[in-house]
Amino acid sequence: MNKVTVIGLGAMGTALANTLHDKGVQVTVWNRSAEKAVPLIAKGMRCAPNVAAAIEDSSLIIISVLDYLAVTAILHNAEESLRGKTLVNLTNGTPSQAREMAYWILQRGAEYLDGGVMVTPELVGGENAFVFYSGSASAYQQHQSILTLLGGPVYVGENIALAAIYDLALLSSMFGMFGGYIHAAALLRSEKIPVAEVTPMIMSLLNAMIELFPQTAQEIDSGVYPQPNSNNTMMTAGLHNILVASEEQSVRDDLIKPIWELFNQASRNGLGDKDISALPQLLTTKTRAKNIDAKKSCEQ
Ligand code: NAP
Repeated sequence: MNKVTVIGLGAMGTALANTLHDKGVQVTVWNRSAEKAVPLIAKGMRCAPNVAAAIEDSSLIIISVLDYLAVTAILHNAEESLRGKTLVNLTNGTPSQAREMAYWILQRGAEYLDGGVMVTPELVGGENAFVFYSGSASAYQQHQSILTLLGGPVYVGENIALAAIYDLALLSSMFGMFGGYIHAAALLRSEKIPVAEVTPMIMSLLNAMIELFPQTAQEIDSGVYPQPNSNNTMMTAGLHNILVASEEQSVRDDLIKPIWELFNQASRNGLGDKDISALPQLLTTKTRAKNIDAKKSCEQ
């Protein structure tokens, strides 16, 4: 049971393999470009000659590659060897990709867990690491002790699509923050202000804003919006000033304009006296493709 195969030796797969090996697990690895296995072989890991041999080596197979196209390309070369195995796919993807992959894997007599690693490779296995998993509860329970070695496992349910939704929701928050910071940096550069000089103040503001999220989340979930201190009409005016200043400073507004548009829509639709907790409802579209319904369980 203390054996794991790791497929994919990019930055993340290498970190996963190293972490398991360092914590006493017997690790077999495989990667499309074989040279990436060399340092791991030197540490005592086994490099399988092909994917099928890698899968045959362990009952638990972890795969972390660029995308689902790569996962499919790899596994289609070794589908016969999947029977009786558990595949944990830590490759970033969408809910429908997770469903299709689960269906394909189950057809081949294997168990499937979808997952998302929520830290960068250097943090894998550390105290701040956490990884989302969804899918077969029995497979998760069977392998939980090994998965725990990678960082706090967060099992979000049998619905195979959920790990992808959780993962992408967290990434949305992160990329939104990056977008704001990138725009801020461009504005500062337009006046030759060193970004490093202002970054501690940006961090201080963001840290203070993040403290408000639990209250905001409660309002979003309940649909009850108390009188805010910072209302949407006021914030729309501030966002408009960022757009005007950006044009004056010859800075593109692509990153900020959609945010202004959303706040502006809220202000025009009777939500000007609320705050950001009233905005997520405006992003929900009425038509929703069947295959992206996260509440629908995977048809196994
Ligand atoms: P990476 O360093 O760019 O490595 C990509 C891996 O995918 C390599 O093993 C590469 O093989 C393989 N690959 C790509 N196309 C392939 C194909 N067509 N067939 C077979 N193998 C293929 O990426 P990474 O950082 O390890 O990311 C892997 C996964 O972890 C991604 O889904 C990513 O979203 C997720 N993740 C990454 C981070 C991070 O900070 N790095 C954090 C959280 C989650 P070759 O070596 O042969 O090119």
